[in-house]
Amino acid sequence: MKIQVKAEVLKLRHTFTIAHGSSDERVNLVVGLEHEGRVGWGLAAPNPRYGETPESCKAALLAMARELQGDPRAYEPLISSLLRNHEGEFAAKAALDMAIMDLAGKTLDAPLYRIWGLDPAGLSPTSMTIGMAAPEQVAQRAQEAAGFHVLKVKLGSADDHALIEAIRSVTQVPIRVDANEGWHSREHAIREVEWLAAHNVELVEQPMPASAIEDAVWLKQRSPLPLIADEAFTCNADLLSMGEAYHGVNIKLMKCGGTLMAREAVTLARGLGLQIMLGCMVESSLGIAAAAQLAPYADYLDLDGNLLICNDPFRGHAVIDGFLKLNDAPGLGASPLT
Ligand code: MG
Repeated sequence: MKIQVKAEVLKLRHTFTIAHGSSDERVNLVVGLEHEGRVGWGLAAPNPRYGETPESCKAALLAMARELQGDPRAYEPLISSLLRNHEGEFAAKAALDMAIMDLAGKTLDAPLYRIWGLDPAGLSPTSMTIGMAAPEQVAQRAQEAAGFHVLKVKLGSADDHALIEAIRSVTQVPIRVDANEGWHSREHAIREVEWLAAHNVELVEQPMPASAIEDAVWLKQRSPLPLIADEAFTCNADLLSMGEAYHGVNIKLMKCGGTLMAREAVTLARGLGLQIMLGCMVESSLGIAAAAQLAPYADYLDLDGNLLICNDPFRGHAVIDGFLKLNDAPGLGASPLT
């Protein structure tokens, strides 16, 4: 298989601020994998939180691609050997998994959700994310997101209550809160969760630092809201420790290393009685299209990374009235605009 790798700088519509920091753009690496006249597309959104840079990601992509040969319809052994033979660099693994699965779907002439026997109808609503900003800006963004049935709000600053009150002054839709590890004591965290429960908040994602597992166990025993692990849950080896500390996990292709591992995570998480959130990084419609193939598995959908950017280089699945509508194109269902 022949590989091409291209860096794409995605511009964010609004400066994106979360408890970890602020940014105006993100770099995605787009992979085109060519096999017998077809091109399979894949996307890597390397994340410094997990020790990845665009440079380390590109080097990993090129090293892994050298081993790629075989029939993409036999995707399982192809992807498994990539995962087994290389350490870390999960975004690069995700991109190659996507490109192989796109090729598999195109060769079999079916969307992945069909190959996996999933029903694309009746998906749960997807949330629209609002980053941290001044309360009046946050209220304005909540108004702009009027078509969505659920909002995801980034907290973890000294202004948390003001932001929620600003949103509640313009809408009563359910809110999912993502603290991005921003609350540093369990006493602070439980106070916040209790306050949020009284403001039509549906769940809280990653309230405390990922490493604070004992605090997470303490918090779960007291929390009136479901607590979802994001930064604390990276790859599937972490899952066994999640059951005691969280009610659910946020599964992202970029953390798991692609669709194959994400499907394994779904099975493992369900076996542990955990709820499933399907999430994303800031990604173009290509990455979202790959995650969307798994949408029927999710209790909570958070696939809006492409809606946060203003120069999306791909077209994929539409979001209509706050619901993801999966198209029936073979493979991932995304194609480049140029
Ligand atoms: Mg999160």
